[in-house]
Amino acid sequence: MLIVQKFGGSSVADAKRIRNVAGIIAETFLEGNDVVVVLSAQGDTTDDLLAKAAEINPAPSKRELDMLLTTGEQQSIALMAMCLEGMGLPVVSLTAWQIGLRTDADYGAARIRRIATERLKRELDKKRIVLVAGFQGITRFDDYTTLGRGGSDTTAVALAAVLHADRCQIFTDVEGVYTADPRKVPGARKLEEVTYDEMLELASMGAQVLMNRSVQMAKRYGVELEVLSSLVRAPGTKVKEVPSSMEEMKITGIAKDEHTARLTVVRVADKPGSAFKVMNAVSKAGVTVDMIIQATGRDGENDISFVVPEDQAEQARDMLMERKKAIGFDHVSIDKDIAKVSVIGAGMMSSAGISSLVFEALNDEHINIQMISTSEIKISCVIDAASADRAVAAIHRKFFEQ
Ligand code: ASP
Ligand code: MG
Repeated sequence: MLIVQKFGGSSVADAKRIRNVAGIIAETFLEGNDVVVVLSAQGDTTDDLLAKAAEINPAPSKRELDMLLTTGEQQSIALMAMCLEGMGLPVVSLTAWQIGLRTDADYGAARIRRIATERLKRELDKKRIVLVAGFQGITRFDDYTTLGRGGSDTTAVALAAVLHADRCQIFTDVEGVYTADPRKVPGARKLEEVTYDEMLELASMGAQVLMNRSVQMAKRYGVELEVLSSLVRAPGTKVKEVPSSMEEMKITGIAKDEHTARLTVVRVADKPGSAFKVMNAVSKAGVTVDMIIQATGRDGENDISFVVPEDQAEQARDMLMERKKAIGFDHVSIDKDIAKVSVIGAGMMSSAGISSLVFEALNDEHINIQMISTSEIKISCVIDAASADRAVAAIHRKFFEQ
């Protein structure tokens, strides 16, 4: 089998952790597999490099920043190669340049264009363990780029796709994907499987186990992923198109997003085109919008509310204010004391009654629902931020602990 394994920064943080990971790689290799390993920079290396850059120049060019950041991953692969060499195993470490991993020139958020497989295949044919620096690529002019924070996940999925790997294992410091945040909900349990779409929803809701782009890529190329711990030897969570699970689960997990804000555009004229003008302004500001609600008109006027990422709230308001005359409204208010609690499950579309159970759980806790939105695989409620943890726990009890 050809297996791609990715180890995150915490899994290779120090010499002891590197030895531990080398043990996992060696075991996989000695079982007779071809092994391609993608590594992240050690521990907080990437953050430290960013801090170092800021000390020298608070606004460095993106090109030079990527030149610096890519060194973190290069350290990891070289150190891991030395460790495996020391164990007497055949190994080679390679950067993006050496394997020909081409990206566009969008420094800091580059997209993979193509990966030449010749060098990789040649090394695998020589029966070597191949270590690849994650997170990095090169432009067509051979300049280094990075794929964005958490980008090593995407490197691993891309390699698994082009090499038609039999498995793609993402090792991290948690044991898998849970029904809710296990640090906050004691009854949370590890999921055997989730679908790509569920994983995307869970991730954008703060269950940051995988970089979202890596999941999108895995879905597009049909790469089945397994998320598992590098410290605890136990089966993790599989991320795939269709779950084959015995237990038919309607709900996969409950997540909360506290980094949200609600904008209300107060007293917009109640006539055709108003909602368009409001939303057009927000989208021109480059802000992503979720859950739009228009209150029933009174005196020929409406309030339009919607949810945006917390750090984009001012951006959206400024653009609206700029067009205040053209749109026609009284004022814009921002409320950051909200949280979005979401129940996610690919099985919920076939089952009525899920939403009523969610609302019942919130009612039991006397938590007021301010906004609601539903999709085929998700029900989200906006509530006040202070009640968010209590809400997640209550919904979790309703679905998983009874
Ligand atoms: N080292 C990079 C980061 O911290 C990439 C990664 O870890 O996946 O974002
Ligand atoms: Mg990560």
